[in-house]
Amino acid sequence: LDPTSENFSEQELDLERKLRPLSFEDFAGQDQVLENLQVFVQAANLREEALDHTLFHGPPGLGKTTLAHILANELQVNIRVTSGPVLDKPGDLAGLLTNLEERDVLFIDEIHRLSPIVEEYLYSAMEDYKIDIMIESGPNARTVQINLNPFTLVGATTRSGLLTAPMRARFGISSRLQYYTTELLTTIVQRSAHILSVPISMEAAIEIAGRSRGTPRIANALLRRVRDFAQIKGDGNIDIKIAKYALEQLHVDMHGLDEMDNKILKTIIDKFKGGPVGITTLATAVSESAETIEEVYEPFLIQQGFIVRTPRGREVTEFAYTHLGKIKGGTQGG
Ligand code: ADP
Repeated sequence: LDPTSENFSEQELDLERKLRPLSFEDFAGQDQVLENLQVFVQAANLREEALDHTLFHGPPGLGKTTLAHILANELQVNIRVTSGPVLDKPGDLAGLLTNLEERDVLFIDEIHRLSPIVEEYLYSAMEDYKIDIMIESGPNARTVQINLNPFTLVGATTRSGLLTAPMRARFGISSRLQYYTTELLTTIVQRSAHILSVPISMEAAIEIAGRSRGTPRIANALLRRVRDFAQIKGDGNIDIKIAKYALEQLHVDMHGLDEMDNKILKTIIDKFKGGPVGITTLATAVSESAETIEEVYEPFLIQQGFIVRTPRGREVTEFAYTHLGKIKGGTQGG
């Protein structure tokens, strides 16, 4: 259930691809983002131009990769997929860029992890659709400039704070994705169940949605696990009883909080008397980087009302004490 997907098996990834919406119409939520994108795509299609370079940022599993594919579909062009850490040297990037056809989409996931030299190389490609490439070697070595087909770079990042200013400035469109409401996640769970041909009750869909940390990827992963329980321990249908049983077996938190979420809350309560505590101090105490806490964990904890931000740092709320079965001001809790 790791929302970063790094621990997903091939089979899980295959299923994930199967559940991925392919058009604006299939994509639930993010209304404001979608509305704008639809206008920009229509305008680009009308003018037969490449769409402006587009940046998606926000926590993992909210649909950044999905939207990149949808953009390519709606623009009726090819998409090439790569990621920041994979692009080692400018040569790797040059190969990709020179193979792009007119208006194609180049998707770079984890774009904040591009090496500075590759990033710099990308600038002229983005701005003027031109790159320098080195030909021959030794004393004959020289660079020639070549023209690229106009293309759209779609970048995705969970850590927008780590993106350099020049990189950020080169994206004409920049959208932040938000966590999903339980209501939206319920429709996503129902749609996915339909694709997987598993009957699911409304109540069960709501239960799974409510425990998915506001994240479609987690909702889909939970649905697949619950389906296993329904097929082996039940009659194949997902009703509220089997859903609750399965989620309990999976030790899924009632609010969908994951291990790090709970660790952050526990640490603020046990080590810092509930706060306020500065982000750097907190980061050290839970052995995670301050940026990751700020960009991946904290937004959800704030949105759900477990944490508040004060000028003096982060503070947990009453709700967090209740959730962890702890008593405010007490030395020990449950
Ligand atoms: P990210 O790139 O932000 O980490 P992905 O685009 O890979 O997230 O989304 C993870 C999975 O969640 C996708 O396979 C897709 O099935 C599902 N998903 C994401 N957003 C939506 C949505 N709005 N509607 C339906 N399914 C979604």
